[in-house]
Amino acid sequence: MDLFIQTSYLVAAGLFILSLKWMSAPATARRGVLAGELGMLLAIIGTLLRHEVVSYQWIMIAFLVGSAIGVPLAYLMPMTAVPQRTALSHAFGALASALIGTAEFYRETPHGFVTVALVVETLLGFLTFTGSLMAFGKLQEILPGRPLTFRGENAFNLTILAIGVASLGWLVVDPTNVAVAGVMLAVSLAVGVLLVLPIGGADMPVVVSLLNSYAGLAAVATGFAIDNNILIIVGALDGLSGFILSVAMSKAMNRSFSNVLFGAFGSAAVAGAGGSSSAGGEMVPISAEDAALRMAYAERVVIVPGYGLAVAQAQHQARELADLIEKRGGDVRFAIHPVAGRMPGHMNVLLAEAGVPYDKLVGMEDINEKFAETDVALVVGANDVVNPAANTNPKSPIYGMPILKVAEAKSVIALKRGRGAGFSGVENDLFVDPKTSMLFGDAKRSLITLGLEVKNA
Ligand code: NAP
Repeated sequence: MDLFIQTSYLVAAGLFILSLKWMSAPATARRGVLAGELGMLLAIIGTLLRHEVVSYQWIMIAFLVGSAIGVPLAYLMPMTAVPQRTALSHAFGALASALIGTAEFYRETPHGFVTVALVVETLLGFLTFTGSLMAFGKLQEILPGRPLTFRGENAFNLTILAIGVASLGWLVVDPTNVAVAGVMLAVSLAVGVLLVLPIGGADMPVVVSLLNSYAGLAAVATGFAIDNNILIIVGALDGLSGFILSVAMSKAMNRSFSNVLFGAFGSAAVAGAGGSSSAGGEMVPISAEDAALRMAYAERVVIVPGYGLAVAQAQHQARELADLIEKRGGDVRFAIHPVAGRMPGHMNVLLAEAGVPYDKLVGMEDINEKFAETDVALVVGANDVVNPAANTNPKSPIYGMPILKVAEAKSVIALKRGRGAGFSGVENDLFVDPKTSMLFGDAKRSLITLGLEVKNA
């Protein structure tokens, strides 16, 4: 039996690695998800067959309760809420790790290395639990999105941290001390809250990804503590991929990691200071008829989707419009910015769901070379990722962020509801550029009207 269990773990580990690899490209992403699911099934079956599992009764109850919550959550949740849903599942995962750590502590007083693993697991688990709940609250707008700070915060945090480190050391030497274990538990819970509250809501996706990494490390520690190889492997994969993702997201926003964690990007103060448009000028509206005419007779069109497309759930209408233009002989591509939307791969997922062929989804570097020869760039609910201030205005908070060079296209049509700023709170010079025309309204409605008009053109 042990051989079967270890083999199932080994195959599961291989599937997890393949899953991560396949998920890095839209064409293989579905296969990646399936491989991950299969790997998880094997890991669970292997674990349930271990001789330490003596009764299945409580496991079945937990399985049913978990499924009753998880399945509707997955089906009913809109794509735009994926970051907060991820935060919530990290919170649960981390709580599970922390509770296992606590239970192991009381079941059998640990010694030596196991004590260290258990203490680290519990600390990271509880910290990730409250941190992820705070991130969820900010993303769901239950908590204020602005950075929440207070006077004497640094001194307070340092004191808390010192108490945490001291109790951690104490517990390693004297694992039976229940009072110190309680102090460490309280400190871990408090650190999670203190770590996330001072960070602006705008940076929560990076924070969620970082917390993902902590949850992975907690799983590694659990694996060592309860002698489970698959937890060690999966935790390491999760921990490192979460960390790499956080760094990649910070890079795509041209922010240093420390700036995300300790700078208040997205706060009212920052948005106010660098928020005004450097270009000046007025937005020029266009009617749907005129916009459609321009696209119907264009040879090359690039559609630039952003967060607004996701909010409006307009991916199908975007594909239909592209099909109509292509039927008339035009060439249509979709420009994909790595952080368009609210999570990495957001636009790829939506457009793939709408059936846009993968070869039409062009990454930032490749499409940027094509804008100069593009007749019409159609910006659908994108803002920050097309803001030329990132290249031209050193005072702008997004200065240095890599952007889609939409401003180089021969003409630009931008679809948005009104004059609202983007995620960073910064005004966009592109919208007041003389070659840009604004089609105001909800992205889905505008795309439907444009489709009808292109058909009639
Ligand atoms: P954005 O800067 O958030 O702008 C979205 C625009 O969509 C807004 O200007 C809004 O203007 C418009 N909009 C909202 N609802 C709409 C609707 N129903 N119909 C039409 N327009 C609508 O979006 P983005 O250009 O995609 O940039 C993404 C931002 O998120 C970047 O700043 C990025 O750094 C950040 N971010 C992304 C990730 C990630 O992993 N993808 C992670 C963290 C942060 P109106 O209000 O006027 O309509």
